[in-house]
Amino acid sequence: MNFDLTEEQKIIQQTAKDFAENEIKPYADKFDKGEEKTRFLDNLKNLSKQGFMGLNIKSQYGGAEAGSIAFSLVVTEIARVCASTAVTVSVNNMVGEVIQSVGNDKQKDKYIKHLNYGICPAASFALSEVNAGSDPASMKTKARLVGDEWIINGNKMWITSAPYADFFIVWAVTDENKSPKSGISCFIVDSDAKGLEIGNPVEKMGQNASSTCEIIFNECKVKRENLLGVEGDGYRVAVGELAGGRIGIGSLALGIGLEAMEMAARYSVERVQFKHKIADFQAIQWMIADSFTELEASRLLLLNAAYRKDSGYSYAMEASMAKMYATEAANRASYKAIQIFGGNGYTRDFPLERFYRDLRVTTIYEGTSEIQRIIIAREILKKMI
Ligand SMILES: Cc1cc2nc3c(=O)[nH]c(=O)nc-3n(C[C@H](O)[C@H](O)[C@H](O)COP(=O)(O)OP(=O)(O)OC[C@H]3O[C@@H](n4cnc5c(N)ncnc54)[C@H](O)[C@@H]3O)c2cc1C
Repeated sequence: MNFDLTEEQKIIQQTAKDFAENEIKPYADKFDKGEEKTRFLDNLKNLSKQGFMGLNIKSQYGGAEAGSIAFSLVVTEIARVCASTAVTVSVNNMVGEVIQSVGNDKQKDKYIKHLNYGICPAASFALSEVNAGSDPASMKTKARLVGDEWIINGNKMWITSAPYADFFIVWAVTDENKSPKSGISCFIVDSDAKGLEIGNPVEKMGQNASSTCEIIFNECKVKRENLLGVEGDGYRVAVGELAGGRIGIGSLALGIGLEAMEMAARYSVERVQFKHKIADFQAIQWMIADSFTELEASRLLLLNAAYRKDSGYSYAMEASMAKMYATEAANRASYKAIQIFGGNGYTRDFPLERFYRDLRVTTIYEGTSEIQRIIIAREILKKMI
């Protein structure tokens, strides 16, 4: 088994690292406080111009065609400095991949290119509703075909990037008489569509520069040709694409966890108590050893899931394992990093408290840890029958 990155992957990783250090890190704290909003969006467009919004997208649509391992590496490097930027990169890549996988040539040409030539900062993946989170099959948003238009009614909740999204991938029930597996369809809705309203951003614990909103469809009309993929196939599309997105969220958590623990390890060799560096105490060493071990295991799980995706193997279970493990391990690591920093870790003088807040949601969105465990157990148990 070869764990070496290719030359191309190394270059992409280094380019992402340089961009993160030079263009994002100096502003990350301000982004968290709701400042420098224009810079946040400009950074996203510049990341797009470098191919980072379409890492697994074909070059004919402006993508980097670099694969899912490169995607994981980029999200990790950006998350080391700013989770809000990293989650937008992850969702944008996921949106592009949905269109690449089921869209027609016209849709691919228009919408994926928008995401990959720096034309827009973001697009949104609108699946969840207030009463349909872990169970998206219970969604209530509906679409009906009238003449040459689909008319959408309903509400979506928690939609990342909604205020600055150029377009939305939206799931809606198109046939109530069928089961969700054949009664839900998927649409592309432009941000200026009549009848689409964006709610105010939700006030969150972390990832504050990334806006999360309700979106409301009130007799929202989209052209017939905005149906994405086959009518009734939407649920399968959503479930399939979420697996790839989970590699992104696990990679995001890994980046924050690594950065937090590296800061803590450096601090431990500088901070002196009882006339010793705190790194001399076994209690501190064990926190460092446990966290780096768990983060390394996370990295390998993520690379394995990404490798399987790139190789055309099934990867949904591996992506769930990687997402569940990496997000939980990174949450533990950031807890320990603050512990190693003592009182300093609890202050806003250091970015650890932001990391801690930013990490918390990673075990919740794109499928909670409980849902990942259900997916993993289901895959294992079906082989036992
Ligand atoms: C910041 C943020 C950004 C988001 N961005 C997006 C986005 O861009 N697009 C989008 O579509 N959605 C988005 N989401 C929604 C996110 O995916 C959901 O919040 C998530 O899937 C959980 O759904 P829920 O919040 O309704 O929780 P619920 O489904 O109500 O779950 C509540 C609790 O019950 C548990 N639970 C539920 N069912 C089971 C079960 N069968 N067995 C065991 N436990 C169970 C859950 O694990 C959880 O602990 C975002 C959410 C947040 C917080």
